[in-house]
Amino acid sequence: MTEKSHTQKTIAIIGGGPAGLMAAEILATAGMAVTIYDHKPSVGRKFLMAGRGGLNLTHSEDFEPFMQRYGSAAPNRLPAIQNFTPTQLRQWCEDLGQETFIGSSGRVFPKSLKASPLLRAWLERLNALGVTINLNHHWTGWDNDALTFTTPQGPITVKPDATLLALGGGSWAKLGSDGSWTELLKNKGIPVAPLRPSNSGFTVQWSDILKTRFAGQPLKTVTLSYGNQTIPGDMMITETGIEGGPVYALSSALRNDLDAEKPATLHIDLKPGLTPDAIRQKLSTPRGGQSFSTYLQKSLGLPPISINLLRECAGDCSAMGPDKLARILKALPLTVSGTASIDRAISTSGGVTFDSIDENYMLKKLPGIFVAGEMLDWEAPTGGYLLQACFSTAVAAANGILKHLK
Ligand SMILES: Cc1cc2nc3c(=O)[nH]c(=O)nc-3n(C[C@H](O)[C@H](O)[C@H](O)COP(=O)(O)OP(=O)(O)OC[C@H]3O[C@@H](n4cnc5c(N)ncnc54)[C@H](O)[C@@H]3O)c2cc1C
Repeated sequence: MTEKSHTQKTIAIIGGGPAGLMAAEILATAGMAVTIYDHKPSVGRKFLMAGRGGLNLTHSEDFEPFMQRYGSAAPNRLPAIQNFTPTQLRQWCEDLGQETFIGSSGRVFPKSLKASPLLRAWLERLNALGVTINLNHHWTGWDNDALTFTTPQGPITVKPDATLLALGGGSWAKLGSDGSWTELLKNKGIPVAPLRPSNSGFTVQWSDILKTRFAGQPLKTVTLSYGNQTIPGDMMITETGIEGGPVYALSSALRNDLDAEKPATLHIDLKPGLTPDAIRQKLSTPRGGQSFSTYLQKSLGLPPISINLLRECAGDCSAMGPDKLARILKALPLTVSGTASIDRAISTSGGVTFDSIDENYMLKKLPGIFVAGEMLDWEAPTGGYLLQACFSTAVAAANGILKHLK
């Protein structure tokens, strides 16, 4: 631990997720006295959760297609990501002793795949830099221009030279990001776009049979199509609907249509490896005495989950000829009835609008208060784009604070 001198500028960072921790590292390295406040008993809880399925830090694709993943927010993200690029993020991870690799899809992971070794090494580095971490401190807003917190020891106020808000989005509240900050900022006149589920699942009115037999099982190696997007992957059947990689990738388009009260029907290709012609050919062998299910299983290798989904979405198809059946198997319509709970979403869209911050990520209406990470109004698909933007905006905001304090 380094001693804090009286001439050091003091920085409060509220939120100890990847964005808050990254900003803390930059500011402490620049000689600031940094204190992180978080209302949970430990930091980086969502980051650790992200590591459960393999921590996808960033993506290796070229810069231009990479930026396109941020859709309409891309122009706002550009300078931040140009100044802290996917290559720099990988280097940072490797400097913390965690080698990275590029997976077959181009996604970048630490070799351990987990977040825990990286977070451990990172917290040691922050400790060595003299960063103080105050846990169980729930930020409740301002009293005049002092920050207010409730703590197990009672309420406190803090008056730092600059503040960074890195409070996350509004999903997985039990990990800390509960979105309660939105009201605090709105009360100060800061425009905040409503938080909505992003990379989320969807509800489907399943029959009891499908629910009881297949909830929790993956529909493997299919492609899902919606609008002009076609995404391959495994779709999970849940008690209440669907989730999984290809569903998340379509989620922004599906959610926007559902919000506009448009019907949302996606199409599933149950045999993406076979052309309609190939399917027709395989189905032209006589069925003989086999049941329809056995016939589909034997002639096309369809597993029971696919056959039951076919029945669920298209009714009894046993009397269909090969032509019609091939068409349905290549584009099985599945109507989703709603967006799954925001609390289960991988991320949220909405948040502090880009109009309300300046080029240094400082709130125009509240000089000295900066914002970074998922609490800003952007969204992106899974693939490492979420963490990359959190890290890059944190670097940009930390540099903005340094500029401001000069
Ligand atoms: C299951 C899952 C898997 C994921 N996998 C990936 C992945 O592989 N790759 C990827 O790029 N992204 C992934 N993500 C998304 C990624 O984890 C988030 O985008 C990222 O953690 C957001 O970082 P952040 O620092 O902005 O906010 P957060 O990580 O949400 O941190 C915000 C912090 O603020 C604290 N806080 C909030 N309100 C207050 C308050 N009032 N007072 C005090 N403290 C407060 C919280 O306790 C929390 O510690 C995944 C998410 C989930 C849920």
